[in-house]
Amino acid sequence: MAIERTLVLIKPDGMQRHLAGLSIDRLDNTHLDMVGAKVVSVTEELAHKHYALLEGHGVFADKEQYQQLINFIKGDYHGVSYRRVIALVYKGENAVKGIRAAVGVTNPEEASPDTIRGAFGRICRKFGYFENVVHASGNPEEAEREIGIWFKPEEIV
Ligand code: ADP
Repeated sequence: MAIERTLVLIKPDGMQRHLAGLSIDRLDNTHLDMVGAKVVSVTEELAHKHYALLEGHGVFADKEQYQQLINFIKGDYHGVSYRRVIALVYKGENAVKGIRAAVGVTNPEEASPDTIRGAFGRICRKFGYFENVVHASGNPEEAEREIGIWFKPEEIV
């Protein structure tokens, strides 16, 4: 049983649709502990750092798809008032798996309805990107890398 930390982002689609509260409610229901939280305006540089490992892989082998991913997290598709995310750190036993279970799989149409993405996510009909409301780290190593990008050590209790 490992005590882990994991990063969650309420993405700009979640901010625009005022789903932050409902999402955090479900994250809190895991009974993991919230140890970091802030609203962040995402720069191009921060977006690239966050998604560095996806560049050139899978669907993101396509440069346009990758740029769309970057633009999405910056809030370019959700209006100037919603160019922001909430960054959260949760901590506890097997936190990465626990949070991923509450979040659901990547494609909101395939995500179980009792997950955040399954309940609130959708696919943008016009451009095909997933409006899946939240990001959650995929494994403990990734989680620590991502927390280091989004938070200074003193910002986490
Ligand atoms: P996850 O966020 O579930 O860890 P990935 O790291 O693979 O998934 O992808 C990062 C983000 O890229 C996803 O959350 C989603 O917003 C977007 N994405 C991934 N795959 C696709 C796809 N096939 N079509 C549209 N958007 C995608």
